[in-house]
Amino acid sequence: MNRESLTNGSGPAAGDGRTEESGRPARSRVTRTVRAGLHADPAHRAVMPPIHLSSNFHFEAPGVFGRYDYTRSGNPTRDLAAEAIAGLEGGCGAVVTSSGMSAVSVVARLLSAGELLLAPHDCYGGCHRLFSAEAARGSYRVRFVDQTAPGALERARALGPRLIWIETPSNPLLRITDIAAWAGLAGEIGAICVVDNTFLSPVNQQPLDHGADLVVHSTTKFLNGHSDVVGGAVVAADPGLLEEVAWWTNAAGVAGAPFDAYLTLRGMRTLHARTRVHEENALAVVSALARHEVVRRVYHPSLPGHPGHGIARRQQTGWGSLVSFELRGGREAVEVFAGVLEHFALAESLGGVESLVAHPATMTHASMDEQAQAAAGIDKGLLRLSVGIEAGTDLVADLERALSRAEEAACQLV
Ligand SMILES: *Cc1c(COP(=O)(O)O)cnc(C)c1O
Repeated sequence: MNRESLTNGSGPAAGDGRTEESGRPARSRVTRTVRAGLHADPAHRAVMPPIHLSSNFHFEAPGVFGRYDYTRSGNPTRDLAAEAIAGLEGGCGAVVTSSGMSAVSVVARLLSAGELLLAPHDCYGGCHRLFSAEAARGSYRVRFVDQTAPGALERARALGPRLIWIETPSNPLLRITDIAAWAGLAGEIGAICVVDNTFLSPVNQQPLDHGADLVVHSTTKFLNGHSDVVGGAVVAADPGLLEEVAWWTNAAGVAGAPFDAYLTLRGMRTLHARTRVHEENALAVVSALARHEVVRRVYHPSLPGHPGHGIARRQQTGWGSLVSFELRGGREAVEVFAGVLEHFALAESLGGVESLVAHPATMTHASMDEQAQAAAGIDKGLLRLSVGIEAGTDLVADLERALSRAEEAACQLV
């Protein structure tokens, strides 16, 4: 874990140690993200970049093209957000889309009829729905597999996928998939390796460094970080794939709105700083949960007993701030617990400054029947927290109070 801030822009690169081209002061990804697009306004010398809402841009003369002509195809504000995201992931470029799902859908368009998409059985519900529906109408084939099972790589090789989809950590049990191993297989068989990096953000994991070809984000979550934009992005390791993804984004008309891009860029400036507080609070929450009698199990990659802890230690640069746990006392205890909490709103989504609690069995995974939930390990007492950046002591005190009340309820049930 190597995450350090650079306090002065003229010093040597710190933090992730990745520096700019020579001839200019070295700058880490932290500094580049905080300062993304500054001084982009020659007209008025505004420090912060202006927002360009215009849908069109004038031509100098017939046939004389400028950099921009029409906002669906290109927009300066959206380009600044795309550059910042690409910089964070260490990619050659990025496309900013209208939602995480539109980012997923443009990547899936790289597949032709008959080609196989290999996806994790516990991928994001919206991805599961899209891939299944597209496969049912013959756009491509899909297989959902447990990528963490022994022998999964060899079985996948025999299936000959064209695109390998990874989501790590998974939702809600935070299963860890070995990116380098799957990207290695993709390289051997000529498949495209895509990682949905929404849960960790590029501060905590950089999949391109482990051999992935594309990274997908729901920028709705950590990148924007303030729960006031729905957006997405695709980052590419090489220009060929970037061009294809950009072509589809324009053709399908799913590029992000300039205003959303502006807010997302604004949110990203504080991503590194937010991430430190998210993590500090998440670790305090994990130990509070682990101490309590009414908690049967805690799921977080930082725990040495977590399956995938070793892989997480290797491939992640932070543990992340999503924490899942099982309450004894099932549904009744869950209702008491959620009703007592003051600082955790019962809501879907994640990655904002505010703390949230979700009940997967009745919320994010409600479309799965009881048997499917059981097979996926989704207990009725399972809860998922998105730990925010409020004062950690307030969050822990709030949880402890709610846990004690849930315990009383669980005891009455016995
Ligand atoms: C939220 C989410 C998505 C979908 O993103 P939207 O912005 O809601 O369209 C995809 N993948 C993961 C892991 C997510 O959490």
